[in-house]
Amino acid sequence: MSKIFKDDLDNERIAELFISDEKCYEFLANLKWNKGFTCRKCGNTNYCAGKTPFSRRCTKCKSEESPTSGTIFHNCKFPISKAFYIAYNVCKGKEDVSTYEYARRLSLRQMTCWNFKVKIRNALNAMDSLSETEKSSIEKMLS
Ligand SMILES: [Zn+2]
Repeated sequence: MSKIFKDDLDNERIAELFISDEKCYEFLANLKWNKGFTCRKCGNTNYCAGKTPFSRRCTKCKSEESPTSGTIFHNCKFPISKAFYIAYNVCKGKEDVSTYEYARRLSLRQMTCWNFKVKIRNALNAMDSLSETEKSSIEKMLS
C-alpha cells in the first residue's frame, strides 16, 4: 500500500492523479506491470487490452486482470481519483484531516470516507514494514 506512494511524486503528478480517474488507472498499471505482464493463472506473458481501462487480458487463458486488483482501490464505490486523494493524504500523514473534512472536499458521504479510511488502516496494519511511529500516527489520524 505505501509502496504506491513510496517514491516522492512531484506535486504536478499528484495533482493530476487527484482529478483524473484515467491517470489513476494508468499509474496503478505502470506500478503493477513495471517488470512486464505475467498472467496470475497460467504464467503467460502475452496480453491484450481488457474491457476496463488499463486492464490486461491474457492471450492464452483469457483471464483478465485490472490495475486495481490486489490494491485497496479494488471495488471502490466512488471515483478512484477521490480514493487516491484520501489514500495519499493518509499515507503521507502531513495533514490531520477528519473524515468530515474529506467528505466536504470531495463531495462524498462522510460514511464513505470513513469506510475507506478503515480499509486503508487495515491495509497498513497488514504491512510489517511499517515502523511503530508510522503506525501510531496513522492510528491517530483514523480515530
Ligand atoms: Zn493466462
